Amino acid sequence: MEGLLTRCRVLPTLATCSCQPSRYVPGRFHHCAPGRRQRLVLSRVFQPQNLREDQVLSLEGKVSDLTCKSQRLMLQVGLIYPASPGCYHLLPYTVRALEKLVRVIDQEMQAIGGQKVNMPSLSPAELWQATNRWNLMGKELLRVRDRHGKEYCLGPTHEEAITALVASQKQLSYKQLPLLLYQVTRKFRDEPRPRFGLLRGREFYMKDMYTFDASPEAAWQTYSLVCDAYCSLFHRLGLQFVKVQADVGSIGGTMSHEFQLPVDVGEDRLAICPSCSFSANVETLDLSQMNCPACQSPLTETKGIEVGHTFYLGTKYSSIFNAQFTNFQGKPCLAEMGCYGLGVTRILAAAIEVLSTEDCIRWPHLLAPYQVCLVPPKKGSKEAAAAELTGHLYDHITEAVPQLCGEVLLDDRTHLTIGNRLKDARKLGYPYVIIAGKRALEDPAYFEVWCQNTGEVVFLTKEGLVELLTQVQTV
Ligand SMILES: [Zn+2]
Repeated sequence: MEGLLTRCRVLPTLATCSCQPSRYVPGRFHHCAPGRRQRLVLSRVFQPQNLREDQVLSLEGKVSDLTCKSQRLMLQVGLIYPASPGCYHLLPYTVRALEKLVRVIDQEMQAIGGQKVNMPSLSPAELWQATNRWNLMGKELLRVRDRHGKEYCLGPTHEEAITALVASQKQLSYKQLPLLLYQVTRKFRDEPRPRFGLLRGREFYMKDMYTFDASPEAAWQTYSLVCDAYCSLFHRLGLQFVKVQADVGSIGGTMSHEFQLPVDVGEDRLAICPSCSFSANVETLDLSQMNCPACQSPLTETKGIEVGHTFYLGTKYSSIFNAQFTNFQGKPCLAEMGCYGLGVTRILAAAIEVLSTEDCIRWPHLLAPYQVCLVPPKKGSKEAAAAELTGHLYDHITEAVPQLCGEVLLDDRTHLTIGNRLKDARKLGYPYVIIAGKRALEDPAYFEVWCQNTGEVVFLTKEGLVELLTQVQTV
């Protein structure tokens, strides 16, 4: 973030600094006083943008594939950049949003007792051979061989690794259970046809949690606890979701649910009962089953993007790796397991897919890379006198609303008109865009405020702005 701070020696016109030259350390970014002068300026954000659709397609090695809305918007405004098929550079705005999402996920997982770990991406072949998934996963598993000829895969999921880790702890007692271990790491899947940007890539971030319980009853309780945490997460993000019964696939186990965001571009078909709470991935239903198994109402079909998946595993993995604990009688027993995934980069792209308009990105308010964009007048314009006022407003907001420290970006490209910069700001989806236009020269000064999530445009004084922004929630 420091790279975006204005430097004392190369001050853009707007970021005047009245600090003492003696306190200036050459070559370092300057912090005059906490919360002051650290103005984040847009011209320094690394943001390759304005790619035309044909450039996007050629960068991705595609000729005619139409991309989906989130992929197109994310490429156009410089949130991601293609690296190779199914792999993207995540650029500064995206990383900020991703880090916020991870913070929300951490809060939810830790609220139910989750402990964060971080396992290697390289996963030894022996572990996968033990469960036979080395063969079952087929070509989706990205395999590598080291200089000694030893085989590994780049982990698409970590049931084997975590169960072997827990099995190595010979002193595990029932008193230490339930054990909920999770990580947020890069995962790899050699997709035959990667598409839709971050929605279906070959390298992506996933949150995967693995739970170990002393009995099937306790494991079921943990299962519903994690499902509740997922519901809480999607509520906080303001995303409509459905929890559907799902196929266990190559992970295995006896029960599974998917968390789906209903949207047309989704690749999963969901059957939903309009009369009761029944909903299922069509994969799990008999093709002739057109009526709800619970209440017999006709099922309606919709498409969804899978953003979360939960599995009740039982002892499928603990029996193979001998992951045991000692029970209250001192006897060794196999742990009852569950595993729980969230597609982290996919949630980000799916949220953009469902919330955005055709031309403008909309973020879940907690995840917006920056909450506020300040637009000062154009250099040389009639309103140019309000430029200094914008700088003061910047400092005032970050001081008066502490949670917005680091969340306010100043669009210092004052060679552009306010209109052009407003268009960019709306496209990028900052929840609040504040413009110092004509009315900023009135006494008291009024600023034009675009509240993008509600679509309102209001004129507020400095005090009114602070009152509005105090309500902004951040993570
Ligand atoms: Zn029903």
